[in-house]
Amino acid sequence: MALAKTNALIIQSRRFRETSLLLVYYTLDFGKIDAIAKGVFGTKKLFFHVFPAYVEISLYRKENSLSLVSHCELLDPFPGLHQDLKKLSYSFYVLELVKEAVRESEQNSSLFWLLFKILKVLDEIKDYHQIELVRPAFELKFLKILGYGPFLNNCVICKKKIQKDTSGFRLSAQAGGLLCRRCCRQDPTSLPITYSLNTLMNYLLNLEVFLLPRLKMPFNLRQELLNYLSYFKDYYLPSNQQSLKLVERIKNA
Ligand SMILES: [Zn+2]
Repeated sequence: MALAKTNALIIQSRRFRETSLLLVYYTLDFGKIDAIAKGVFGTKKLFFHVFPAYVEISLYRKENSLSLVSHCELLDPFPGLHQDLKKLSYSFYVLELVKEAVRESEQNSSLFWLLFKILKVLDEIKDYHQIELVRPAFELKFLKILGYGPFLNNCVICKKKIQKDTSGFRLSAQAGGLLCRRCCRQDPTSLPITYSLNTLMNYLLNLEVFLLPRLKMPFNLRQELLNYLSYFKDYYLPSNQQSLKLVERIKNA
């Protein structure tokens, strides 16, 4: 049993037996891991294990079993996020998606930093309406990091480029991106996509996360984007997250 130190994001934390906590971390060095923090429930140490938070942990790693947390230092508790139910609901959605879609112990530093930046943006964002952009931005970037696309520059079969004056392009979840008018017969479930929506998706996919609060997007385009992303995402990732219901309830309140 080796002692290891790593930076981590707490993605879930719940009581385990009398005084312990069962934690799910997304760590920089080991990917997603489950671990136990013994004897912290009911003590001041509980504060270091509230999620979401950015922490440094020392833990005893065990093969095919739960790791044991020996020390935890709070690097960023994301205070702005914990004080706002809307921000919190979006962070729960992001964390739930990662928890469900990512396999155990697969290190991926790109995913770690994406998750960190998304939580940081949610923590600091001032404009209430901009919070809603976090969801499509995260979904797009998350899909890309996992290798599912979407590929949005040209038809994924014949490589025909999408341009302002070309019509008939469709988005195909099955094909992982765009299909041109000729190739779209390969996937009858694909959705027609406009040049402007495609450009917006491509822009968001490549946008630095910290610039997200400055992005202006009309409400109807935002809604269209969410619908197209739901179609694409549900093909590859688990759907119907519990936290999504909370997101919708607070958004419509
Ligand atoms: Zn084609």
